[in-house]
Amino acid sequence: MSEFNYKSNRLHVENVAINAIQQSIPTPFYVYSATMIENNFLSLQSRLSDLNHLICFAVKANSNQAVLRTLAALGSGADVVSLGELKRALHAGIHAQKIVFSGVGKTAKEIEYAIEQGIFQFNVESVAELHNINAVALKCNKKAHIAIRINPDVAVDTHAKITTGSAENKFGISYQHALDTFVLADSLPGITVQGIHVHIGSQITDVTPFRAAFKRVADLYKQLETLGININVLDLGGGLGICYDPENDKLPNMNEYRQIIEDELSQFNCKYIVEPGRSLTADTGCLVSTVIYDKLGSDRNFLIINAAMNDFARPSLYDAYHRISPVIESNKPRKKYDIVGPVCESGDTFAVARTLPELESGDLVVIRDCGAYGAVMSGTYNTRPLIAEVMVKGDQFAVIRERQSLDDLINLDQIPNWLISST
Ligand SMILES: *Cc1c(COP(=O)(O)O)cnc(C)c1O
Repeated sequence: MSEFNYKSNRLHVENVAINAIQQSIPTPFYVYSATMIENNFLSLQSRLSDLNHLICFAVKANSNQAVLRTLAALGSGADVVSLGELKRALHAGIHAQKIVFSGVGKTAKEIEYAIEQGIFQFNVESVAELHNINAVALKCNKKAHIAIRINPDVAVDTHAKITTGSAENKFGISYQHALDTFVLADSLPGITVQGIHVHIGSQITDVTPFRAAFKRVADLYKQLETLGININVLDLGGGLGICYDPENDKLPNMNEYRQIIEDELSQFNCKYIVEPGRSLTADTGCLVSTVIYDKLGSDRNFLIINAAMNDFARPSLYDAYHRISPVIESNKPRKKYDIVGPVCESGDTFAVARTLPELESGDLVVIRDCGAYGAVMSGTYNTRPLIAEVMVKGDQFAVIRERQSLDDLINLDQIPNWLISST
């Protein structure tokens, strides 16, 4: 259930009116509902109940400490893809034994830190990486526990930039080479083979491709068993979608998802890991922004808002659809608007030809479903400082990341001495 609702014409997050937040925190900012994050986690957990499982939240979707702490308190683990994310997860109180480390380019330094911390599992993506993990583990006098990510070569109906499980992308070991790679891994003294990993893409709303992927996992499991390589962890990846556009998107059928896991994999008595990112946090956040100008033309009307592509990249990066709503509901006549940011790029467009009640300078709008791949993908293009993040719980709200100051941003740069002395 959404915690973003209009009460007396004013959009609320839980029991807090967005325009009340905006009185103390200048826009643009992200705002998250802690209750929704909790509910999303608990709902997935209950879907998977009776299965021996661990939910490892994909930290890349939203790495704010308060968000991670909210999930950690419910027992969540973490799927991390960099040293930075690993440190964030540990710092938020997620136990190392609940952390899996994914990603195609783990460096020796990252591997060493993860081994020293005693993480649960590396998800290995290449033979070169396997050798590197082995070497680092031997140097540390430890064994690294690994799963090998296989590329099951299944097509997923999602945006080309977020499909990961077909043969042409960089992720995982091709299915044909999987068996050999497991045999190699099993022979390395610094490695303990424990799992098979698949992750086939993101924003998946039709769960049927999971069946094809999990069938391949099951086949591989059996082949490994005959070779005496025992697998006890099946990491099923993330990728479950959300409904960004109520007119066109459907939610993944979670009964069916669970049924697919049972049908294809429950014969093996393994521990399951799932790595959801988007489905736990996307619908729990929105980006609040103020209209700077309305610009009415004969052809098109523009709303120029004070958030931009550097703050929220998904529309410009993936042509992603996001609902945009006014913070105050009104009966004003409706108009069609292109909603754009101030950055000097045509790609700085959040929506085209959206019908909204007439809005003008100073009015607030929200871009919905920004709780995943929102703040984490932001940058400072056009010298726009990173924006604030706010969390609401019940009738309380708090800043969970301060807006970066312009001085802080500019002072990251340094002028070489030889330039100073020459002026
Ligand atoms: C990105 C990613 C996830 C999370 O994907 P969502 O679509 O956000 O659920 C999980 N596992 C791996 C390996 C990933 O790269």
